Amino acid sequence: MGPRGDIDFLFFAKLWFRTEDYSIDSQLHRGRPMSDRSRVHAQPLSDEAERLADAFAPLDLAERLAAARSIIGGRIVFTTSFGLEDQAISHAILTQDLAIDIVTFDTGRLFPETHQVWAETEQRYGRRIEARLPEQRSIEAWIAQNGVDGFRASIVARQACCALRKVEPLGRALAGAAAWVTGVRAEQSAERAMMGFAAIDAQHRLIKLNPLFDWTRERVVDFVHDHGVPYNSLHDRGFLSIGCAPCTRAVAPGESERSGRWWWEGQEKRECGLHPVA
Ligand code: SF4
Repeated sequence: MGPRGDIDFLFFAKLWFRTEDYSIDSQLHRGRPMSDRSRVHAQPLSDEAERLADAFAPLDLAERLAAARSIIGGRIVFTTSFGLEDQAISHAILTQDLAIDIVTFDTGRLFPETHQVWAETEQRYGRRIEARLPEQRSIEAWIAQNGVDGFRASIVARQACCALRKVEPLGRALAGAAAWVTGVRAEQSAERAMMGFAAIDAQHRLIKLNPLFDWTRERVVDFVHDHGVPYNSLHDRGFLSIGCAPCTRAVAPGESERSGRWWWEGQEKRECGLHPVA
C-alpha cells in the first residue's frame, strides 16, 4: 500500500457508501419516477461517482483494487482480454492475491498470441483465469445463416456476432456479481471518456469500476515494463487494442487506439457492446 494506505480511503468510502444508500435499487431509482425505472441504462453515480473519483485519484492501481475489494461486499469480477490495461490490472490483483474473479471470453476467433499470453499469465502468477465460451448452438446457427465471416456484411451483423461471442458470455460471467472491474481508460475514445471511475451498470445490476480511467497509455506501458508483466506480442507489431483476429489490425502512428478495431466500419463507434454508453 502507498503512503495514503487503505485506512483513510476506507474511512471516507464508508461515509460515501452508506449501507442504507448503497443498494443497486437505491442507486438506480433514486429520484426517478416509476415510469423511468425500466429505461435506465448505465447511469453515472452522480455525487457518489464524483466522490469515488476524488478518492481514487491519489491512489495507485493496487490501492484502488484493494480498496474496492474491502468496500464492496459480494463477488467482484474482472474481465480481461489480455490487452496491456488488463494485464496491468491482473498483475495488481494477482500479486495482492485479491479475491477478485478474473474471467476472459474465448470467442473462438482470438489470435494465437492472445492464447499465448493467457497461458504465460497463468504460469507467471500461478492462478487460473476462468474462460467463458459462446453458446455452441447459437454460434452454429449464426454461421449457418450468415457465413463464418458474416460479421463484415453490416454493422448490425457485426454487433450480432459480438452479442453472441462476447455480450452473452459477459452476462453469464457477471451473474450474481456485486461489481465489475474493467480496463477502460478515458483516453481510449470519446465514448469511454464519459464513463468515469465508477457507475451503476443497470443492465447487469452492479457497480462498474474503471480503475485505470485516468491513466495514459504511456503510463500503462511503463507499468507493464517496470513490473515485468507478460503482454501480448502483437503490441510490438502495431496492435494497440486487440480483440478477435478477423476484426483487429495494426494501426499506423498517430491513429487512434481503437481505430484498428472493425476498421471497415469507418468512423462509427468502435465498441462491441461490452461497454455501452448511455
Ligand atoms: Fe465476431 Fe468480430 Fe465481434 Fe469477434 S470482434 S465477436 S469475430 S464481430
